[in-house]
Amino acid sequence: MSACGAGVAPLMAIHCRMASCLLLNATWEPLVLLPVRRGIQLVLADRAHAVEVRGSVFRSEFMSIEVPIVAALNEYVRIPESMCTPAASRSNVLVRDDNRCGYCGDKAQTIDHIVPTSRGGAARDWRNVIAACHRCNVTVKQDRTPEEAGLSLVRQPFVPTRSDLVLARASQHSELRAWMRRSGFASAA
Ligand SMILES: [Zn+2]
Repeated sequence: MSACGAGVAPLMAIHCRMASCLLLNATWEPLVLLPVRRGIQLVLADRAHAVEVRGSVFRSEFMSIEVPIVAALNEYVRIPESMCTPAASRSNVLVRDDNRCGYCGDKAQTIDHIVPTSRGGAARDWRNVIAACHRCNVTVKQDRTPEEAGLSLVRQPFVPTRSDLVLARASQHSELRAWMRRSGFASAA
């Protein structure tokens, strides 16, 4: 069956460029968001099975397969401890905070160090970084603490798990968000 993958690859390249597949561990722990063509390849290789399909089918000269938007590994994969807490990178902080400013709730474009690094605040500590809009961060707060700038946090920053971020990223896709809601994943709320 996997030998047929080469035949279907050109179709995937054309149709799957923008789609995503949520990959779950065998225990249904969210692992990663993949290009949907990669999800199809895992199913074809018998390393995963489809949990939710989109309702469209990829066909090649040799086979056809329903497009998985959620797939689960057939065998459990242990995630190393060092990979369980993701880095507090700019993109990860924006995902954790749903692209919302931690001071006013508007759309965020930047990351703010709550206690500025110039004042001893930790640069890579999840609890010292928050998504912020340009106005709150650059115009109002500048190189000050929230108290000094007259700002207050509308939510407290927290240390997310790897799964938290995977679900947050998945929830940005409407079809995955609908599946997450039906399946009881809290982050889909
Ligand atoms: Zn703001």
